[in-house]
Amino acid sequence: MEPIEIKVLDKGFVRLINFLGGDETVVLAARVSTGKGLKGEEHDKKLIHYLMKHRHETPFEHSVFQFHISCPLFVARQWFRHRIASYNERSGRYVEYEDEFYLPERLRLQSKSNKQASEFGEIPNEQELLRMIQETYDLVYERYKRLLAAGVARELARAILPLSLYTQFYWTINARSLMNFINLRADASAQWEIRQYAEAIAKIFKAKMPWTWEAFVQHVWKGENPAITF
Ligand SMILES: Cc1cc2nc3c(=O)[nH]c(=O)nc-3n(C[C@H](O)[C@H](O)[C@H](O)COP(=O)(O)OP(=O)(O)OC[C@H]3O[C@@H](n4cnc5c(N)ncnc54)[C@H](O)[C@@H]3O)c2cc1C
Repeated sequence: MEPIEIKVLDKGFVRLINFLGGDETVVLAARVSTGKGLKGEEHDKKLIHYLMKHRHETPFEHSVFQFHISCPLFVARQWFRHRIASYNERSGRYVEYEDEFYLPERLRLQSKSNKQASEFGEIPNEQELLRMIQETYDLVYERYKRLLAAGVARELARAILPLSLYTQFYWTINARSLMNFINLRADASAQWEIRQYAEAIAKIFKAKMPWTWEAFVQHVWKGENPAITF
């Protein structure tokens, strides 16, 4: 299939490289127990809504998405907590990292009401702080290269690189687990950066499994995010 790619943040992306299944596969998996197949859009859609509403979720496991992701390390660290999926990541022991660091468009303030959260607001010297961040990246990357040039091993030289460094990984996940990811990471309580990725993934999910998406938004999604609609 033709990959579907959505750019995320300043240098990242979500790329769907393979997809197996779809809405009808959910229906067929559910009806295998009764020996009945597809019954037409109206009935099949109804069944998907029934399954979703009653959290009878195993039929959704037969649809599988394979993504290629590029995101900052601190986003990947949150991402990898989602254990019901398969991961393979680029090795900083094997290859040299590129000069790719996340530079936010805007800085956010520490939230006053939630110790884990942030909020958009006025930061008078924002542009100066952003320049300082970029200078830090330039300095640290130059020193990383200097360590490598001196013969220091890649696996050790990388220890000086910041969490904003971009990494890449393959992520293979079934639709059931993907809905759990979207539920948790597209919600307003998730960090803004991973939320941008969850929204991109939600768009792809909706395009590939529109009936399942509609049922998910109606019966399961309780989060806060205007981008999550059907
Ligand atoms: C807003 C937010 C803040 C967070 N803050 C923190 C934090 O401060 N510190 C921190 O450590 N983590 C934090 N997390 C990560 C969170 O605790 C989960 O690890 C992460 O969201 C993955 O969710 P999950 O376990 O449902 O997903 P998966 O690991 O993909 O699991 C999917 C489902 O499978 C089942 N499952 C998987 N493994 C087991 C198991 N071992 N036993 C029983 N059932 C299992 C559960 O039903 C689970 O919901 C945060 C997550 C969010 C969204």
